[in-house]
Amino acid sequence: MSHETVWDDVIDEGTQDVLDPGVPASLDRAPDVLVIGGGVIGLSIAASCRQLGIERVTVLEGSVLGAGPSRRAGGILAPEVHAMLHPGPFVDLARAGLQRHREWSAAWDGATGLRDRDYLLVSDSEVPEALRRLAGAQALAPADARRREPELGPWPHVLLLQHQASVHPLRLILALARRAGSIATGVTVSAFDTSGNRVVRVRTSAGRVTPGAVVVATGEAPRWLLPLAQVQVKGHIVATTPASFRLRGIVASTIAALQLDDGRLVCGGTFDAGDRQPLVRDAAVARIRAEMTRLLPASAELEIDRAWCCFRPCTEDELPVIDRLPGLSNAWLSVAHFRTGLLLAPAAGHAVASWIRSGVRPAELAGLGLDRLAPARLAD
Ligand SMILES: Cc1cc2nc3c(=O)[nH]c(=O)nc-3n(C[C@H](O)[C@H](O)[C@H](O)COP(=O)(O)OP(=O)(O)OC[C@H]3O[C@@H](n4cnc5c(N)ncnc54)[C@H](O)[C@@H]3O)c2cc1C
Repeated sequence: MSHETVWDDVIDEGTQDVLDPGVPASLDRAPDVLVIGGGVIGLSIAASCRQLGIERVTVLEGSVLGAGPSRRAGGILAPEVHAMLHPGPFVDLARAGLQRHREWSAAWDGATGLRDRDYLLVSDSEVPEALRRLAGAQALAPADARRREPELGPWPHVLLLQHQASVHPLRLILALARRAGSIATGVTVSAFDTSGNRVVRVRTSAGRVTPGAVVVATGEAPRWLLPLAQVQVKGHIVATTPASFRLRGIVASTIAALQLDDGRLVCGGTFDAGDRQPLVRDAAVARIRAEMTRLLPASAELEIDRAWCCFRPCTEDELPVIDRLPGLSNAWLSVAHFRTGLLLAPAAGHAVASWIRSGVRPAELAGLGLDRLAPARLAD
């Protein structure tokens, strides 16, 4: 079994150069905006800054673009699932994220691999009607559910969430990288030099950078910057050999399954609490296999030939932190995107870019600031 992701199949010489340009001689070391971190969040902020007319943007990535979960994630964009999990302003941002994904896909000739997909959420117990209403979910009788998705197993409770979507994580990274400005990889940022309430210099493994503004999008907040309490929640995903059947949408229970255009199933998104090792575990793959067979009995015939894992950075309330850094007028952070970084990226990127440009905190970031975390949570 290979531990490469299915998304990595798009890597060739040309895309490898985009993902790992090294330190180009032309690197802009005095940009208007410096973004630290070349995951989906950092690249979305950079591309959004440029869309809003901020020309000089530099991204510094310590490894290669998308080195973290950004290119290993499932690629599911389902804001209505989160309407049931985290009702509130966060869901509006998630819905705006999906809307902007659609705009990017239309503007960039489908380069991100976006697919509109209905989502069948199955469970052993009934989801309360009040929650269903928040998500605009329709309860289906089991027979109706199987008419809609003939491969679905015999689940007693099925909810239909229409017009959700999926994206190809690595195609998204590549599309963003081509629009993100000046990029260097293999460059780690280690400290800020400040004067008054401004960051005036950023120290990196490739020398100093003097930006007008800086955004930290490093997955989790770096310890040298902010002692924010965070955990990393591991997850596994598998892919099968191509199926002869065709799924009509995404099906999900505690894990989710979607089908690629070539027939392979991508299935997973486990929450492996307490497992801190970046290793694929046979036991986790077996658990996915068992649940996948409950979801889609015909999948039992398919071979699992890929399995990979990655980590979700997470705060106590499982919501991201998108804020200006305390005491600094020209530094922001967008971290701890847990399980929805791909979904949120375009809306979060646009919000941060417009905050930098206007100086005014966008209303859509309500509830995502550092101030919601009790002081005890800020101290490690
Ligand atoms: C199993 C699994 C499935 C998932 N499925 C989905 C899904 O279906 N849909 C969805 O929306 N989300 C999903 N997610 C969540 C999503 O992957 C993350 O929320 C998202 O990738 C976070 O992006 P990021 O850019 O914040 O972080 P990262 O991808 O971690 O990027 C941060 C980058 O910063 C770099 N960096 C760190 N420190 C420094 C430094 N000091 N200097 C320079 N560079 C630095 C890192 O190398 C890294 O490349 C999933 C996550 C997991 C684990």
